[in-house]
Amino acid sequence: MSQQSRSTFVLTDPTEILAALVGLKDVRVLQYQRRGHEVELMIEQVVDTVSCSRCGERARVKERPVVSYVDLPVYGAPMRLAWKKHRMACPNRHCDVQSFVLADHRIAAKSCLLTTRAAKWATVQVGTGRTVKEVAGELDCDWHTVNDAVTTYGAALLDADRKRLARTSAIGLDETSFVRLGRYRHTSFATTVADVEHHQIIDILESRDYKDVARFLDRQPEAWKNQIRFGALDMSATYAAVYSVVLPNALQVVDPFHAIKLANQALDEVRRRVQQERLGHYAGDLVKNPASGLCQPAWVSMRSRRPSKIFCRPT
Ligand SMILES: [Zn+2]
Repeated sequence: MSQQSRSTFVLTDPTEILAALVGLKDVRVLQYQRRGHEVELMIEQVVDTVSCSRCGERARVKERPVVSYVDLPVYGAPMRLAWKKHRMACPNRHCDVQSFVLADHRIAAKSCLLTTRAAKWATVQVGTGRTVKEVAGELDCDWHTVNDAVTTYGAALLDADRKRLARTSAIGLDETSFVRLGRYRHTSFATTVADVEHHQIIDILESRDYKDVARFLDRQPEAWKNQIRFGALDMSATYAAVYSVVLPNALQVVDPFHAIKLANQALDEVRRRVQQERLGHYAGDLVKNPASGLCQPAWVSMRSRRPSKIFCRPT
């Protein structure tokens, strides 16, 4: 059994205390600024000698652009991290590399407006049920800023999580009407690819078209496709075609929910037809009686709700 060791240390030097509070490796804190309720911390990387990646010449600092990132709140106050970057220039005239900016993914990833730690935190928050709007409110930033970061980091997590794909031998395809894109747009559909053996979603595709769903399954490793023995579907001809072409060895199984739904629809049609033939009129839909738990025509339910003082004589 392994024992976890925890280091304990005490800092007394103000610079070291500040570095520990900031919690970023290989950075120097340049400035603390407060504007209204917003706090901004300016940092820079600790840089030694930088060489051009193409020719190896020693690069020189050309510019110091400042890029602002949304960081985690500190002591309840929204925080911005102003990163004073190093734009370097290669002195070699024959080199194709004219200039480049030093990066550090531990501070912030390329094209992300959140710091790495804020983006990871936001991804966990949204992944465990909070809305993007709530998280954006806590970080005091735009909805799109959080959504873009969560999408980027969430996609990376999905790509890294191969276990969710590898362990199943039964998958399911199901369509979901997902969002109405606008007043004059149609409802769009997404396809949920699920591990029906372990009750886990594998992925959600932004389409229910044959080519998109088939492409997703076809992209998966050959070993994974060979281990899929069952393919659940909602009686959609498209999904049946996907299974037939991409996973021909998988046994196609109709989802019980959709089978029962179809059986109920068929039974209801027969009931309406028989009632029409016997009574000469439509007798209404079936509703569930909360007292007995049984289904009965709606007019029976309505009669049972009448006040007891009104006595209905049988005719
Ligand atoms: Zn160079």
